[in-house]
Amino acid sequence: MQFKFYMPTEIHFGEDVIINNKEVFSKIGSKALIVTGRSSAKKNGSYDDVKKALSQTGVEHLLFDEVEENPSLETIEKGSEIGKSNNVDFIIGIGGGSPMDAAKAIAVFIKNPEIHKDNIFSAGKLDSIPVVAVPTTSGTGSEVTQYSIVTSNKEKTKKNLGQSIFPKAAFIDSKYTFALPYEITVNTAIDAFTHLVEGYLNTNSTNMSDVFGEKGFELFKYCFEKLIGKELSPEFREKVMMASVMGGIQIAHTGTSLPHGMGYPLTYFKGLPHGLANGVLTIEFLKSFKEQRKIDRMLNILGFRHLAELEAVFNCLIDVKIDITEDEIYEYSRSFIANKNKLKNHPEEAGLEDIIRIYSKSLLKN
Ligand code: NAP
Ligand code: FE
Repeated sequence: MQFKFYMPTEIHFGEDVIINNKEVFSKIGSKALIVTGRSSAKKNGSYDDVKKALSQTGVEHLLFDEVEENPSLETIEKGSEIGKSNNVDFIIGIGGGSPMDAAKAIAVFIKNPEIHKDNIFSAGKLDSIPVVAVPTTSGTGSEVTQYSIVTSNKEKTKKNLGQSIFPKAAFIDSKYTFALPYEITVNTAIDAFTHLVEGYLNTNSTNMSDVFGEKGFELFKYCFEKLIGKELSPEFREKVMMASVMGGIQIAHTGTSLPHGMGYPLTYFKGLPHGLANGVLTIEFLKSFKEQRKIDRMLNILGFRHLAELEAVFNCLIDVKIDITEDEIYEYSRSFIANKNKLKNHPEEAGLEDIIRIYSKSLLKN
């Protein structure tokens, strides 16, 4: 057996972790750019807690609160200009995956002033200034991954920045998610679940990464039940956050595979939220496997005997109706097949016909 396990992010998990570990910020830097979405960080208490911790430890800060969902390279460039002109020495990303991923990309742009939106993808490996991450959704796991998923309007797609930017520290306190609306709770939980699935059924999975997958499925046995019953208690919030962290640690080692890669055009062209874009493809993805043994193990941990029971849970939680034509499916499938990055993580042979079939069966139901 051989594997490499690398998780450089210092993880602080639990209630009030920001205030209780405030000295972490002053060890990392002396002037921070805080990167958030437009409003949620100010409402859920996360921004206030970070501000308090910084002022108590003498760290200066300024705020960039313009990150949109599925952050664009234009927004990232704008944030990095503000950071550069104010000489910040680290970045704090607070929010869902969008602000956390934008924070990572801004940290790369600030460290490398010659980098801009048109040369980033051909730049080779780059360093970044340090990043601290504070998740306020339980979904992406971005607080413990090296990935930054950005929107390239030039290429009309979402893609990984192609750099490795693990946050130096992650402060994970599920109280920031207490008021997350039901719909966003479901969509982001489905994202976390798809990370666990795609990381578990992956060319790069190891006995070590499977530990996180299997723990995540165990948590989801509880979380699915509560999501269906709409019982979003603090205990649920903490467990789904934990499952999301498990999924993040797992995909940091394995990467994601077909549903994530195939979901990007559904977000870019059809506006589907990220979790739904993966989620709508997941059941047909699972059905496409010739080798079902590992899927059976996963279902067993989830407390299901057959894939149909997981399908029933998905049908109960998500209802995606989009207008899509067979020509569009063909186009998305062709461009997916042309990009080998996700395909190589899928442990079975898959060709154009297989991809078209997964899209069609998932999206052309009636
Ligand atoms: P998001 O795009 O960050 O946020 C979605 C919405 O939720 C926004 O309107 C946001 O409002 C709101 N929101 C966030 N936290 C909230 C809270 N505590 N209470 C109420 N509303 C809240 O959603 P996400 O699903 O977390 O992130 C998706 C992005 O992450 C996608 O771009 C995806 O590709 C990426 N992703 C990254 C990784 C990775 O490893 N890096 C993995 C999977 C997905 P505001 O805008 O006001 O904050
Ligand atoms: Fe995801």
